[in-house]
Amino acid sequence: MEISQKVKQTLSKIKINKKERILVALSGGKDSTVTAYLLKKFGYNIEGFHIDLGMGEYSEKCLKAIKELCDDLKIKLYIYDIKKEMGSSMCYLRSAIQSRKSLKNCAICGVIKKWIMNKEARRLKVSKIATGHNLDDEAQTFLINIFKGSPELSANSGAISKNMQDKKFVPRIKPLFYVLENDIRKFSKKEKLPVVYESCPCALDSYRIQVREFLNTLSEKNKENIIKNSQKILSKIKKKDTKISYCKICGEPARKNICKKCELMEIKN
Ligand code: AMP
Ligand code: ZN
Repeated sequence: MEISQKVKQTLSKIKINKKERILVALSGGKDSTVTAYLLKKFGYNIEGFHIDLGMGEYSEKCLKAIKELCDDLKIKLYIYDIKKEMGSSMCYLRSAIQSRKSLKNCAICGVIKKWIMNKEARRLKVSKIATGHNLDDEAQTFLINIFKGSPELSANSGAISKNMQDKKFVPRIKPLFYVLENDIRKFSKKEKLPVVYESCPCALDSYRIQVREFLNTLSEKNKENIIKNSQKILSKIKKKDTKISYCKICGEPARKNICKKCELMEIKN
C-alpha cells in the first residue's frame, strides 16, 4: 500500500477529526516533515512546533528547513528556545545530568522534549500532538523493551497514546506508525521536501543502533510483521498501573510524586 493510503487509514482508525487543532512536533528531519506534509494535504488543522535545542550549526539547519516547510504549507510555527526558557542548551543540560546519573543522551533528551511538548501543547490549547515516529522506530523500541525484560513498557504504544487519560495530558498521535522508514525517505525526496537528512550529532545510543542494524537485515515484510504481531503479544501483557498524579515540583502529569524530567534535573523545592 502507498504511504498516503497507509497514513489515511491510520488517521481514520484512530478517529482524528479534521477540525481539531493538531500540533505537529517538527524536528527538521524527514519523518516529522512528511507527517506535517501529509496531514496538511489531507485537510487536517495543523500547526507546527519546534524545540530549538541550541546545538549550533545542526540546530540552525533544522530551524531553517522547518521555517521553509511551514511557509510552504502556510501553517503557524511555534518555536520553543530551550536556551531562553531553560537557561542552557540541551548539550549543557545533558552534561549536567550525566555528571550525576549514568544515562544515555537520547534518553535524557527524549524525557525533556516530551515534558516541553505536553506543557506547550496544553498552553496552546491544541487537542493532539503529532510526532514523526515510524514503523522502524516502533519495532526497535518493542524489541529493546523485550530484550531488556520489560515488554510492558511497550504496552501503551500505538498510533495514538493509550495511557494517561488525564485533563493535563495532551494525547499524542503517530500518523506514520505503520510506515517503513525507507518509504518515508523515498517520499520526502520525491516531493523535494525541506529536510535535514543528517542525524542528530548527539544520537549516541549504541544499543538502539545495533538493534536497528539487525532489523535492517530483515525483509520489509518481516519488519511489518513485528509491529503486527507486537499488538497481539502486548494485548496479553498486564498493563502498567496508569494511575496519574501531578508532579510536586512542576505540576505536570506524572506516574510518581515527581515527574521524570524533574527527577533528572533534581530540582529541589
Ligand atoms: P526522535 O526521538 O529524535 O527520534 O524524535 C521523534 C519525534 O519527536 C520526531 O519525529 C518529532 O516529531 C519529535 N521531535 C524530535 N525532536 C524535536 C524537536 N527538536 N522539536 C520538536 N519536535 C521534535
Ligand atoms: Zn516535574
